[in-house]
Amino acid sequence: MLYDAIIIGRGPAGISCAIYTTRANLKTLVIGKHDSALLKAEKIENYYGFEMPISGNNLLEAGEKQALRLGAEIVTDEVVGIDKAESFTVSCVKGQYHGKSVLLAPGAPAVKAPVKGMDAFEGRGISYCTTCDGFFYRNRKVGVVGYTDYAVHEAMELLSFTRDITLYTNGMELNISPASTEQMNAFRVNTKKIKGLYGGESLEGINFEDGTTEDVDGLFVAYGSASGVNFAMKMGIMMNGNSIAFNEKMETNIEGLYTAGDCTGVFKQISVAVGQGAIAARGMIDYVRKQKNIRK
Ligand SMILES: Cc1cc2nc3c(=O)[nH]c(=O)nc-3n(C[C@H](O)[C@H](O)[C@H](O)COP(=O)(O)OP(=O)(O)OC[C@H]3O[C@@H](n4cnc5c(N)ncnc54)[C@H](O)[C@@H]3O)c2cc1C
Repeated sequence: MLYDAIIIGRGPAGISCAIYTTRANLKTLVIGKHDSALLKAEKIENYYGFEMPISGNNLLEAGEKQALRLGAEIVTDEVVGIDKAESFTVSCVKGQYHGKSVLLAPGAPAVKAPVKGMDAFEGRGISYCTTCDGFFYRNRKVGVVGYTDYAVHEAMELLSFTRDITLYTNGMELNISPASTEQMNAFRVNTKKIKGLYGGESLEGINFEDGTTEDVDGLFVAYGSASGVNFAMKMGIMMNGNSIAFNEKMETNIEGLYTAGDCTGVFKQISVAVGQGAIAARGMIDYVRKQKNIRK
């Protein structure tokens, strides 16, 4: 199945975009997890049209019901990779989807792994991108810091370069799907809490809180879910600091790939996310229609 529009993120930006694309008759798929920033908002009273405060959860539910009624499909899944050839392939924990256009609306970038000394070694042993830097660690000892499906995906990506891979959960309990569980024998798992990192010019190893150490040549950070920043690094999407760069149509530097919401770094508010989602939808609708005309 080739969707007209695949929307990554089911927060206000993604759902707003889906409302417009489905009403323009674009076959639309929304992929996301249940962890919109809005879920943390107990009371919202600055969004248009509600006389009394509304909870973030209720607003999200209402938006999803609206998009579903209009014909959007919504799946609960985690995106771990996006590739572009003739069309886009969006790889998730549970499957793969293909689309002519994509909206990247995964919310604000996740916080970096809370390990002391990590920033100091960034680019000198610490990486946030297996696609960009995996090659530098051919046949060397590497680790992935993380505990989720995304971390398992990154460890599997590294298998093309080396077999010496450890997943460091930093004291976190593994939170992975059955599909990822099946892949766990491809690498080692270390569940100790990390105290810090050591090295000179570049990273040399990890100190654990129990007093033990382990040498490592490279550490790939994949804490939580893949964020806009991770996808940007892998796909060569232009960034503006920690935010995804975009033009007046909310299109990134990759044709057919649009963005909206908190990941753009603009005033992080629901009204802005909804507005950007609508602008991006307009761009996606024009893009897909133009492609259809070209193929006629
Ligand atoms: C405590 C709190 C209170 C707030 N109060 C207000 C307020 O009163 N008024 C206001 O206007 N704004 C408020 N905000 C801000 C508002 O919540 C955000 O601006 C808004 O939610 C941004 O929408 P978004 O769609 O860009 O991102 P989000 O709502 O964060 O949605 C991101 C979506 O992307 C999905 N996602 C992320 N990574 C992946 C992945 N790898 N694979 C699949 N899906 C993924 C997430 O699961 C989620 O569905 C508040 C925020 C917080 C934290």
